[in-house]
Parts: sequence; C-alpha cells; structure tokens
Amino acid sequence: MNQEAGYRVARARMVSEQLRGAGLADPRVLGAMRDVPRHRFVPKLLRHRAYQPCALPIGSGQTISQPFTVALTCALLELKGDESALEIGTGSGYQAAVLSRLCAQVLTIERVEPLARRAAIVLAELDHANVTVLCADGCEPVSGQGPFDAIVVTACADRFPDTLYRQLRAGGRLVVPLAQTGGGQTLYRFTREPRQPRIERSLDCRFVPLVRGPLARAAAETGED
Ligand code: SAH
Repeated sequence: MNQEAGYRVARARMVSEQLRGAGLADPRVLGAMRDVPRHRFVPKLLRHRAYQPCALPIGSGQTISQPFTVALTCALLELKGDESALEIGTGSGYQAAVLSRLCAQVLTIERVEPLARRAAIVLAELDHANVTVLCADGCEPVSGQGPFDAIVVTACADRFPDTLYRQLRAGGRLVVPLAQTGGGQTLYRFTREPRQPRIERSLDCRFVPLVRGPLARAAAETGED
C-alpha cells in the first residue's frame, strides 16, 4: 500500500472510531473529515501521528485541534452548503479546509504571521479556493467583511465575544470556547436572535487562549519555530 492509501485508511478509521464512535452523526461533517488530508497540515516529523486522537504542535507555540474537536465545532455550526463562515484562529489551516467542504465561503483569521502564511500555502496546494486567509487580530471586525452565517473561534475566549456575535446574520451561529470561572473551558453555541442570543452549552474542552491586542506584541510573545 502506498503512503497516501495508508493515510486514507487511517482517516477512515479516525472517522469511525473517534467521531462516529463518540456520537457524531452529521454525514456532511463526517464526509469532510474523511476527505481532508489532515497529515498535510501537521509538521512532517509528526505526520505519522496525524490521525491519532490528540492535538499536535504546529509551531509558534500553537496546536492543531484534535479531530473530535474539529468535527464537533463544525457540526455545531449546522452548515448546509450555501453559507459564509468566519473562523478565528487559522492555526494550521486544517479546520478551514474542513469548513470549506461544508459551506460556500470561508474567511479565516490568524494573528501569527508565519502560521497564516503556511496555512495559505497548504490550502492553495489542496485547491481550497473558497478559503481566504487573513493575518490580523480576529477580535476586531474586518472592514468590508460579513455578516456571516457561522463563526467559529478555535481559541479560548475569557469572555463572551460581543464584537464577533454582532457580525452574525439573524439566525447565525457562533461557536466559541469560554474560560470558566474557577478554571476549565466549556464550548458554547450562541444563536443570533432579535432580542437576546440563544445560549447552548456543549462539552468541556481545551483550547489555546484567544489573545487580544496588537499583532507586533503577539509575534514577539509566541516566537517563531
Ligand atoms: N483551527 C486551527 C487550530 C488553531 S489553534 C487548526 O485547525 O489548526 C488557535 C489559533 O488561534 C492559534 O494559531 C493562535 O495563534 C490563534 N489566535 C489566538 N488569538 C487570536 C486572535 N485574536 N486572532 C486571530 N487568531 C488568534
């Protein structure tokens, strides 16, 4: 069996054991997770671990989320295919690639420039032409973009991200991990409704922190590796 065929088998097993086996049933999400080559988004030395049930380092002190987390957050967005989605925290670009299979347009924002650059290259190599990668602070609204049908934040916010919620279209969904008082993180879904957001609590989770503030300082903080 050649290497790509081996990765395909590992991916199919990942879907049945880590996703379907854990109760995820959305066929579109499972199909996208089966198709997108996760190993292309992890550093070469870690490719043999690409389909294991864990997060992996991607450089600059950041990680690619574990497959279950990517599938769960995508499923919570309830995408049908014609939506525009915003992702905050491009990281490796893997979740943006999965999202690009589930909706019409994806804007993904990453504040660490080397990660944004690398993700854009891999996404282009894999022909994900409906994804735009932007290097910026995703906590700030991007002029000329939005509103969005779906927003996913792949880093943990310390409070409800109001600026992001206001970029949702009526009925749109915002999926975001929030730090809990007393420690830990919980994944939430906020649906935009006329008066108040509809709030639904999902599972406890673990993400890297969402970092607000100027980019120059962020790059210095995280370093480049
Ligand atoms: N979705 C990614 C995993 C990302 S890890 C993947 O599929 O690989 C979270 C990412 O959020 C990190 O790369 C981090 O640099 C980025 N991040 C943190 N705060 C941010 C902010 N304010 N704006 C944009 N990106 C941010």
